Parts: sequence; C-alpha cells; structure tokens
Amino acid sequence: MTAIGEEAGRLLDMLDVDRAHWREGSMPAVTPLTGEKIAMVRVCGADDIEAALDASSAAFRAWREVPAPRRGELVRLFGEELRAAKECLSRLVTIEAGKIASEGRGEVQEMIDICDFAVGLSRQLYGLTIATERPGHRMMEVWHPLGVVGVISAFNFPVAVWAWNAALALVCGNSVVWKPSEKTPLTALAVQAIFARAAARFGEAPEGLCGLLVGGRETGEALVGDARVALVSATGSTRMGRAVAPRLAQRFARAILELGGNNGVIVAPSADLDLALRGVAFGAMGTAGQRCTTTRRLFVHDSIYEGFVARLKAAYDSVAVGNPLEGDVLVGPLIDRAAFEAMGAALAAARAEGGIVHGGDRVGEGASYYVRPALVEMPRQVGPVCEETFGPILYVMRYDDLDAAIRLHNGVAAGLSSAIFTTDMREAERFLAASDCGIANVNLGTSGAEIGGAFGGEKETGGGRESGSDSWKVYMRRATNTVNYSDALPLAQGVSFDI
Ligand code: NAD
Repeated sequence: MTAIGEEAGRLLDMLDVDRAHWREGSMPAVTPLTGEKIAMVRVCGADDIEAALDASSAAFRAWREVPAPRRGELVRLFGEELRAAKECLSRLVTIEAGKIASEGRGEVQEMIDICDFAVGLSRQLYGLTIATERPGHRMMEVWHPLGVVGVISAFNFPVAVWAWNAALALVCGNSVVWKPSEKTPLTALAVQAIFARAAARFGEAPEGLCGLLVGGRETGEALVGDARVALVSATGSTRMGRAVAPRLAQRFARAILELGGNNGVIVAPSADLDLALRGVAFGAMGTAGQRCTTTRRLFVHDSIYEGFVARLKAAYDSVAVGNPLEGDVLVGPLIDRAAFEAMGAALAAARAEGGIVHGGDRVGEGASYYVRPALVEMPRQVGPVCEETFGPILYVMRYDDLDAAIRLHNGVAAGLSSAIFTTDMREAERFLAASDCGIANVNLGTSGAEIGGAFGGEKETGGGRESGSDSWKVYMRRATNTVNYSDALPLAQGVSFDI
C-alpha cells in the first residue's frame, strides 16, 4: 500500500471502521489526489439490499413511536461525535474527494450545523390549528413520520448531503438507507461508524435505523424501485434525475431531486468590483469547479468588461493548483479521467463556437487529473455554455441591457443558484424578482449556501428542497384532523342530508 493508502487506512482505523468493509472487497477506492488505489471496498449484493430494507422498515416502526425531542437527542449525540471526529473525517474527505483542507473541514462543519438545526427542530414540528366553518368543531393538521427515506448522494459532497437528509429524516421519525457515490465509499463507511458511536451512547436506537448500501448505479436503482422506500432524496446529475424521477412517479413515491446547475452571475456597472472579483473567483474556481453551485456563466456590463475581465484573468493565472496534501493550494484535482475528458470536450466545443480560452491546461501527468481553471470569453450563449460541465470552466459574456442579461441568465435548462453584483437597489431587486433559480443572491457568489435556508433549484435542477427553513415537511406526512365536540352534525358548505 502506498503512503496515501496507509494514511487512509490509519484514518479509517481511528474512526473505528470495520476492516472487513474496506480491506478485502471487490471495488477499488481511488484517491483523485494521485489516482492510486487506497482500499478495496465490499459491495452490497441483492441479499444485503433486501436485509437492509427489511431492517429499515422495522426500525421505522419502532422509531416513529419515540417522541420527537428524544429523537433529537440521538442527533445531538451524533453532532458531538462529529465534532470529535472532525479532523479525521475532513482529512478523509480531502483524500477521497480531493477537496482542499478548508473545504473538507467546511463539509464536516456543515454536518455539525445541520445536526444543531435538527435538534432544535425536534421540538418544533408544528402543525396549524385552522378556523372551521362548523360550530363546535376543531380542525388541525398534524405531522407524522413518513417511512424509510432513501438517500442517493454524489461524489462532490460525499458526507454533507447525507447529513442534510439524515438529520432531518431522523428527528421527523424516519429511518434512513444511504447509497453513497461509488467514487466515495470510504467517507460513507466512516460516517456510519461515527453514527454507530452516537447510537451506542443513545442506547435506544433500533437496529437498522441508518443503513448503508455501498454499490454502483444498480444499488441506487434498487432503492428507487422498492415499495418499502417512501421517499428518495437523490443528489447527482440531471441525467440521473431523468432516470430516477419517472420510476418514483410510477409508484407514487416522494422525491427530492437535487440535480445539476448552470449558475450565472451578473456584474453590473455599479458593482463593488473587489467584492465581485473574490465572489466570482471562489464561485468559479473553488472545489475545482465541482460544486453543483459553481459559477459557470458570467455576464459583465460592457462599460466595465475590459478592466474586470483582465483582473479576473490575473486571478486565474495566480491561483495555486495541486495536491492539497502537499501545499497551500486553492484548486485540487478533478475527480477522474472522465471529468478531465469532459472538460477538454467542452473547451473544444467552446472554441468551435468562437470562444477564446484562457487557461484550462493540464498540470502534471499520470493517473491524477489537475487542470488550471479555464476562463472562456464567448461571443454569445451557445453550445457548451448552455450545459453543466462538471469542472472549472467559466464562460464570460458581455451585456449592455440588464433585462436582456437576465433573460439570457434564465435561458438555460438548470435553475439552481444565481447572483448579481450591484450597488443599485433597483437592479438588485429586479434581479431577485426575475431570477428563476432556487437561490438568488446579491453581492455574494453562487456557491457556499448556509444550512439555515432551504436548498435546491428549479427546472432541470429537479425542484427539491433540503436543509433549513421548512424543508422538513417533505420528510413527514400531514394529516388534517377535524374533531366535533358538539352534539350536532353540521355539514360543511351548508349541505343538508336529513335522514
Ligand atoms: P451522478 O449522477 O453520476 O451520480 C450521483 C449518484 O446517483 C451516485 O450515487 C450514483 O451511483 C447514483 N445513480 C446514478 N444513476 C442512477 C440511477 N439510474 N438510479 C439510481 N441511482 C443512480 O453524479 P456525480 O458525478 O456523482 O455528481 C455530480 C453531479 O451532481 C453534478 O451534476 C452536480 O451538479 C450534481 N450535484 C447536485 C447537487 C444539488 O444539490 N443540486 C449537489 C451535489 C451535486
């Protein structure tokens, strides 16, 4: 085993992950930092899936009876265990997903934050009391646990996405079965071990409350097709969502779909350009362009275009690209060769449409794929600009009329995150009113959402909402209850039916 494989092994041991799961399995776990194999992971078979879903159904029946604030106590303990494991787990995120150290830590912090949020929520699963038109009646809505929640996650947020879903699902009284990305099984195993410690301290968590199914697409398909799973929260590409959505609709299961983004930023003439520069640079280059909220399209007003784009190019030239374990870099690797090839194909297509490419070259060679982020000046919004390529490509276009820029901004299939940089209040409000995305910001970039808000997007981003605000309601079912405490039976709408 190489040095990095040994480090991964040490971290897994420190986190108490059973070696049987990552030593002698059939699926290689590869680090994008060097392209080396660092573990051999055990993949679930059909029997494991069957057993996990049975156990999860039984766990749900027991867990739904536990009072919600008590369920919150388990999530509180999980948050404590995450705090204790933060350094180990975030380092493993860096090794397995290639994130720089601060982003690896940020990802685990996001898990801790959603636990805190869910603990508070466990005492706030409020329903309404509604005025009724019938005398001597009371009408109210009550929220009940839903069932088994299936979570399918993507490689780029290997642990946080599960936590957004699981923390809420658990306080809402559900059990959870997780199918992580096949590109990031080790961090998923680590999270299971951390959760197991919290469950042991809690003492009353039913067996199978949080299941893990390591496997590829077929394992995800099994979750999607199984009638025991009441809700599937699936995060990944729009292509995946297109396959998953009709299958869930077919069996009337609930869906939270968190799919691809093609996020745009407008920089207006009155913008604070220092702020805009930093916001765009982090949004477009951070996480090597591998966030669903990465800034992919930039509309800059004609009057400031030359100066702003020159400064942005200088930032692109100076950003440090490389192995996050070896130095103070800001841009780590692409996840794999396929991602590198997709980026190359998009840049070639952009050139064919008249785009002028700045950067985008490969750094180093071998089995890992590091690239300099690419800034591409485009004559118009065509071809690859209209699609998500999951890498650090920023397409830059000029505009002279804000309404036309907003129309172009909205003129793509995805609808996740958006932003405008302006100090003109009217422009800011016009943008917020018109952006068709689930997230619209003023004077900050498109990426780096907080867990307190509802997170998700419109159109081909899938329409789901996770995390804060009232997203919890998707993880519960609502019953409207009417109680008649009179000795008459008045019918609604004044209907009479005297027998
Ligand atoms: P992906 O679609 O290749 O895989 C995501 C997950 O879906 C994996 O676990 C995979 O095994 C599973 N899967 C694939 N096809 C399936 C099917 N037919 N049935 C069931 N499961 C299936 O995505 P990826 O490359 O891991 O991640 C990158 C993509 O995820 C990007 O498009 C990015 O924008 C998106 N993403 C979206 C959000 C969001 O919140 N909107 C967050 C993170 C990532």
